[in-house]
Amino acid sequence: MVEAYLSLGSNMGERAYHLREALSLLDQIEGINVTKVSSIYETAPIGYTDQDPFLNLCAKVETSLAPHDLLHRCLDVERRLHRVREIRWGPRTCDIDIILYGDEQIDDNELTVPHPRMRERAFVIIPLQEIAPRAVEPVLHQAIGEIQAPDDEVEVYREG
Ligand code: ATP
Ligand code: CA
Ligand code: CA
Repeated sequence: MVEAYLSLGSNMGERAYHLREALSLLDQIEGINVTKVSSIYETAPIGYTDQDPFLNLCAKVETSLAPHDLLHRCLDVERRLHRVREIRWGPRTCDIDIILYGDEQIDDNELTVPHPRMRERAFVIIPLQEIAPRAVEPVLHQAIGEIQAPDDEVEVYREG
């Protein structure tokens, strides 16, 4: 079993529902157990301010799948959630990125792990620090808790 960390995001429709549904679908896959989930964070849109704010979370999974198999299963789950809205254009209902896969470093046409933009993204670093401060980012051998999060606006999201 390998411990991997995923970042999930949604900025369309019932955002929190999409995140929960994605976690549930992931957990149902043989070879993937979702073992820890961060709070949900809301991220003000940056860059393209013309879209709704994102909800993001990070999840720890224990997996027996090889990295590319894990990626393919994540993309399957995205597709299953996207199917509800394929008639419309616009932001995605759910994005699932692999942030860490054990201490492996992978860089090919399909998959780069650790995620190459993780350090630039408060919406990745902050939820990851909540659930895995002692996990180690293998490129710089740095504990997640010691990474300086960018100071973008990221707030814990409370439903209701
Ligand atoms: P970003 O990677 O900057 O967050 P994105 O999530 O919007 O961008 P997508 O369109 O969702 O990008 O993904 C495009 C492709 O990125 C995927 O089909 C996958 O092959 C590739 N990819 C490379 N590394 C990863 C990773 N660590 N996690 C998920 N997908 C990855
Ligand atoms: Ca992404
Ligand atoms: Ca993605």
